[in-house]
Amino acid sequence: MARQGDSPAAINVVMLGPPGAGKGTQAEQLSRRRNLPKISTGDILREAVHAGTKLGRAARKTMEAGNLVSDDMMIAIVQDRLSRSDARCGFVLDGFPRTVVQAIALDRMISERGPIVVLDIVVPQDELERRLATRKICGTCGSNASPDSTDACEKCDGSLITRVDDGIEIVRERLKVYQRQTKPLVEFYSSRANFSSIDGNRAPEIVTEAVEAALDAVIGATRRGVAS
Ligand code: AMP
Repeated sequence: MARQGDSPAAINVVMLGPPGAGKGTQAEQLSRRRNLPKISTGDILREAVHAGTKLGRAARKTMEAGNLVSDDMMIAIVQDRLSRSDARCGFVLDGFPRTVVQAIALDRMISERGPIVVLDIVVPQDELERRLATRKICGTCGSNASPDSTDACEKCDGSLITRVDDGIEIVRERLKVYQRQTKPLVEFYSSRANFSSIDGNRAPEIVTEAVEAALDAVIGATRRGVAS
């Protein structure tokens, strides 16, 4: 495997997109196919809430209201996670960055590790609301349930539950927060050569193919030395 600093080296992927766009599902696919750690800040926070740690106690109310946890806290969490050895050759970030401040911090954190590939998954608002209102996750392992599952997780057989923040009022708040605080990241990243916009309003396996193709294109361009 390539060492950090070698060229071409790390595949540093950021999955961008609103809640319900399928970032988690696609990040998981990429993680498995490319053997990269999936780093979901939402999962890290939910685990902390579940375990009742100091971080979890600090973040719980903010998450349940559909708002964003502070930039300082999130940047510290991601900095710590990216310093682990499994992330040295790349990673798939799901749910971070969510603000321009976080994006600037991420650029700084990985300035020595090769470019970030940004994949922006685009889905219309009414479809996002529909997905989030019907979404279930596994209460044991936290993974998203497929729309066909009814009562048990396909991975670990745990019971399926609705996320506390997937109630319709909170969903609308989260989508507003996305528009206000996270959508500006599209402009922040879109002028870079390694940015791709992907139509997420399709079956997950079709979106996966598009994600793979976009990533291959960016990696190819990087190897030819045209991406920045
Ligand atoms: P997610 O599972 O990505 O939808 O995240 C669930 C919740 O965790 C969000 O609604 C926020 O409250 C919080 N959260 C996750 N990632 C971040 C982040 N990068 N910045 C701020 N808050 C976050």
